[in-house]
Amino acid sequence: MYLPPFEVYILGTSSAIPAFDRYPSSQFIHINGSYILIDCGEGTQMQLKKYKLPSNRIDLILISHLHGDHIFGLPGLLTSLSLLQRQKPLKIIAPQSLKIILDTIFTESEAKISYPIEYIFTQPTHPELIFENDKFKISTVPLIHRLPTTGFVIEEQPADRKIIKEKVQEYAIPIHQFNRLKKGLDAEDEQGNIIKNEWVTQDPPPTRKYVYFSDTALLSSIPEVAFNADVLYHETTFLKEHQDLAKITMHSTSIDAAQTAIKIKAKKLLVGHYSSRYENLDLLLNEAKTIFENTELAKEGKKIVV
Ligand SMILES: [Zn+2]
Ligand SMILES: [Zn+2]
Repeated sequence: MYLPPFEVYILGTSSAIPAFDRYPSSQFIHINGSYILIDCGEGTQMQLKKYKLPSNRIDLILISHLHGDHIFGLPGLLTSLSLLQRQKPLKIIAPQSLKIILDTIFTESEAKISYPIEYIFTQPTHPELIFENDKFKISTVPLIHRLPTTGFVIEEQPADRKIIKEKVQEYAIPIHQFNRLKKGLDAEDEQGNIIKNEWVTQDPPPTRKYVYFSDTALLSSIPEVAFNADVLYHETTFLKEHQDLAKITMHSTSIDAAQTAIKIKAKKLLVGHYSSRYENLDLLLNEAKTIFENTELAKEGKKIVV
């Protein structure tokens, strides 16, 4: 069965200070012909180049919060796109103050941006459907962190229902009725008899869902929209032995990430946002696996199929 592309490319996995060849947070997503960037830590445009990902095709940038390890790559990336004469509008979904930061940088550095930037502002108080087109939708989820922070849920729109060729022939359904069937409506034959949708169509493949939770302390309540993720990316800044630090800085341990994966019934857990105090990431991986077996380490250059 053909499934349209839904892929996540990891560009950065480091928290706060880059360490051991790990870059600050950023991910590039290809979903059925659309390209999305989530967070944009320092060096993101270099990483896009390194992994041959098309920065000029990004139409949407999602920013979880305004800590530097999630946004310091943005001014560079946005001005480079301008130097490349981008004309297409770019949407940025982010906390409201990001506009002040970027406007100041553009004004004071006399950067003239060649394309329109359209902002959609997030709020950290309740979950919200924030963007939707015919292929996918994006919702925000409030996270618990030192600055206002949201996670993101990216979910495919349901595909059309599949028409069963032999059945539409059997019921002699005219071709102009096929669009109704694909949308789940009943059809009529030439004599005006009602043909029930379920007699002649099959369910489309289930929609796929990617959830991005960074940065956050352990979430006590998680909205329904994040449940049943095919892949949950969850920050794992610390090991459980450093949970005191996690508490102070409002981050998660590997155990917290794994517990969240269980709670939302995720199929797979992808961990990242590692503290620079750990060179050996297997410690974090193995700790998460004690609770949630299907855990994988995010690593620069890795591609995950949702
Ligand atoms: Zn961070
Ligand atoms: Zn942060």
